[in-house]
Amino acid sequence: MNKASTEAHRAFWRGMIAAMPPIPALSVSEWAETHRVLSRESTAEHGRFSCDRVPYQRAAMDDATDPAVSQSIYAWAAQTGKSETLNNVLGFFMHADPAAILMVQPTVDLAEAYSKERIAPMIRDTPALRKLVRDPRARDSGNTLLSKVFPGGNLALIGANAPSGLAGRPRRVILLDEVDRFPVSAGTEGDPCALADRRAESFPNSVKVKTSTPTVKGRSRIWSLLEGSDFQKWFCACPACGHQQVWEWAQIRWPKDKPEDARLHCAKCDHGLTDEERIESVRTGEWRATKPFIGIRGRWLNGINTLFRHHKGYRNRLHQMAAEFLQAKEGGAQTMRVWTNTFLAEPYEEEAEAIPVSSLASRVEDYSPETLPSGVLQLVAGVDVQNNRIEATVWGFGIEEESWAVEHKVFDGDPEQDEIWQALDSYLVRTFAREDRCELKIERAFIDMGFKSKRVLAFCYPRLVRGVYPCRGLNRVGTAIPPLLPTKPSRNNRARIPHWNVGVTVAKTAIYDRLTIPPPGPRTIHFPEGYGFDEGYFRQLTSERRRTRYSYGQAYFVFEKDNNAVRNEALDAFVYAVAALESLGRVNWGKLAEVRRASIPPAPEREPEAEQAKTAEAALATAPESPKPTPPPAITAQQLAPRPRPMFRPRNLFRPML
Ligand SMILES: [Zn+2]
Repeated sequence: MNKASTEAHRAFWRGMIAAMPPIPALSVSEWAETHRVLSRESTAEHGRFSCDRVPYQRAAMDDATDPAVSQSIYAWAAQTGKSETLNNVLGFFMHADPAAILMVQPTVDLAEAYSKERIAPMIRDTPALRKLVRDPRARDSGNTLLSKVFPGGNLALIGANAPSGLAGRPRRVILLDEVDRFPVSAGTEGDPCALADRRAESFPNSVKVKTSTPTVKGRSRIWSLLEGSDFQKWFCACPACGHQQVWEWAQIRWPKDKPEDARLHCAKCDHGLTDEERIESVRTGEWRATKPFIGIRGRWLNGINTLFRHHKGYRNRLHQMAAEFLQAKEGGAQTMRVWTNTFLAEPYEEEAEAIPVSSLASRVEDYSPETLPSGVLQLVAGVDVQNNRIEATVWGFGIEEESWAVEHKVFDGDPEQDEIWQALDSYLVRTFAREDRCELKIERAFIDMGFKSKRVLAFCYPRLVRGVYPCRGLNRVGTAIPPLLPTKPSRNNRARIPHWNVGVTVAKTAIYDRLTIPPPGPRTIHFPEGYGFDEGYFRQLTSERRRTRYSYGQAYFVFEKDNNAVRNEALDAFVYAVAALESLGRVNWGKLAEVRRASIPPAPEREPEAEQAKTAEAALATAPESPKPTPPPAITAQQLAPRPRPMFRPRNLFRPML
């Protein structure tokens, strides 16, 4: 090989190497400490970035280059340096390991503002970045507010409210900021977080960062993500006893009307830390996982950990924290909510909406157990047993699960005695009627065996063939929410009699959702005036409050009584009726409506025939004389007979509207 060609060869390789992106040898925190300069406009403490100033930032940034981490989640309070942490990740992937980067802000306007106020100053003041990105004012710079081109990659900024921005070319680095402010769906395309994540799918070394302060409990994206992560918290040591703890708001206390004397108290020895001691304990703290790590790294940090200087007018940061809390409290629910989200970095628990008793009492309608609306196609009953009475509610259901309260009956007496059970038995076989004279019987009844189970089992056993089943309400099974009904009944009782385990939470969720929708219409609930549906009944029905709880990132509801003195048999009886309907299986409501229409007794002169089919009890309750409808076709006894039904089947007919 001659000298010239060797030179050309070398030049070629030099060119190739120069064109290749640099191999990342630095971690994000090392890059930041080497290159990053904090801008005057974004922080009071501008100048060279140092992790020593805000030590919890270091590990957080390095998650981005940790091969074990598939996603990093930051839920940090305001004033803890979250944006600078995110910017350092951004700077690293512009300079040290160039990539196609997508940054998503809640809206296009916020994306523009972030570009102007955060990214532009960072590029301007950080020499390593300034060299890479051309001035947007230069011609053909390739740079606009929402797009920055640099050697080896580019950055696109978009708003989560614009679905067009979320679809497009694959991108290796996805930074989603303030995800709790993202719309539920980007246009009609679906969850913007999922859409953004999809763009990184083809990269095995993709980087996904999601940050936010949390918003409303049960609807907070970041909190849900955090619950699915290893949920790291910043543990700090007490200077007096050395106890490691996560600082919480309840530990900050001050003498009445003297917030300037606020101290942070150790959970173990109650030593009151001064602000200097707080700062020192936070500086020397460490991240610790509070849940198992399964590839998602979550870091949660509240405002007590701030290392930023206190504002003018306050003695120190603890004073400022106490004063700001008092201001928020004075401002009411709205400002407390902002404080809880941005300072505590916790989701705000919205008081579950109470269903006002008056709203139910005022919407009663004019019908009776003998003049039910023709929409009623199926009757079921829920029965609750107490030590001095039995309460039963009959419910009618129709197309799209619209429901009608038929009657709430209280049988007073001792469930240890037979009389009360005889009264219940007579009641369960009685006949109800619609205004069009179609007669209906209770197709299935569920009786709570949680109390007096022996008596309940003894009553139900000979009546199982009639659809009278014992049942038991279940709130939770371990960490799982049981379904409304399992696929088949349990026999796990002394007498080995089949009984149904009813998923109370699912049923109550559906009932409470439906109570809020005014009838008529699909899934609404009607009440008649009287027949046991008085104010006391409505008070019982609305006696519980729905609250949100979390289990491994999944929000679920629990139902709790606000006032233990208020009874809730009405609600329980409704729950069992809902389960009884569910146990009947998939109902073909359209077909059933035809069957019911066909069963309307013909003209009165032919009534004796139908009369024979009735039981003695049913005969007591005859349909009132009403204007005769056009005579329907004659019906056979076979049509009147109860249709055979599948005893067990799986599926969720009565779905909660979650
Ligand atoms: Zn201590």
